[in-house]
Amino acid sequence: MKIKLWGVRGSLPAPINNQQLRRKLEQLLMKITPDDLGTIDSVRSFLDRQPFHATQTVGGDTTCVEVRSQEHNSLLVFDAGTGIRRLGDSLIRNEGFAEGGKEIHIFISHTHWDHIQGFPFFVPAYIPGNKIHFYSPFEDLQERFERQQLYDHFPQPLEGMASVKEFHTLSTEGSVNIDGITISCFPLNHPGGSFAYRLTENQKTFVFATDAEFTMVQIDELQEYNPFFREADILIFDSQYTLEEAFYKFDWGHTSVSMAVNMAISWNAKKLVMTHHDPSYDDEKLAAILDLALEHRKNMHKNEPEIIQAYEGLEFYL
Ligand SMILES: [Zn+2]
Ligand SMILES: [Zn+2]
Repeated sequence: MKIKLWGVRGSLPAPINNQQLRRKLEQLLMKITPDDLGTIDSVRSFLDRQPFHATQTVGGDTTCVEVRSQEHNSLLVFDAGTGIRRLGDSLIRNEGFAEGGKEIHIFISHTHWDHIQGFPFFVPAYIPGNKIHFYSPFEDLQERFERQQLYDHFPQPLEGMASVKEFHTLSTEGSVNIDGITISCFPLNHPGGSFAYRLTENQKTFVFATDAEFTMVQIDELQEYNPFFREADILIFDSQYTLEEAFYKFDWGHTSVSMAVNMAISWNAKKLVMTHHDPSYDDEKLAAILDLALEHRKNMHKNEPEIIQAYEGLEFYL
């Protein structure tokens, strides 16, 4: 299984702004020495030695994750936030999706804007002959997508996109199999409901769980979620807030960083990928949050899971 992140912001797209870019440049220029400036290689080597937040950005697009099966490179997509636009552009440019005849399987966690608003800009959906399968436990998912593209909100209706679209309603009881990947879903505590997805292929497991509030759950209660979340090789989890914010944003439907670490430890995840970054957080603040998470893991006397801050373009191979 190959996994690639195309959008990691929560709530609203939040691209880097001019002040933030300028601040990165100022801080880099304060550090650079004449020796670093000699050649392009020495400049690159200087940049490579800097922390992630100094030279890169987690990105501003909202949630979208691409998954490829090992067998046939089948394309599965989790959520259609604004990140799906660049995924679509890449499919058109590099993989022949402009010619039609391609199949795409899109799984939706829930239909808050930040998880569906990229779909009207997903170019492969406009190509005749492409087929898009939508999956979620929401029986009215098609209506929800149609509503997003009423003329009040968007110039093209859903049925105006020339691809074939098929909507499949999932049950939380069973699972579906797409070209060797088995997928099951699990309800999360979030206003309006949201669902996590667990994917298994060749004994490797990836869990995608965003928009989930676990604020009031005690650590020992986490065990009841075990059958679904246990032993993930990669757990992508909503960690929108710091612990402090999680208290005053109680009931907003998201989880604190420390709680996400507790859960990953309790469920024995190998890697925790923290996502759904708050739109008000810049790269520097997110780096500080990653440090908080690592500190919290240390206080829990654990070396695992590995903790990673989600950023656009990040890839995993399982
Ligand atoms: Zn969200
Ligand atoms: Zn939501």
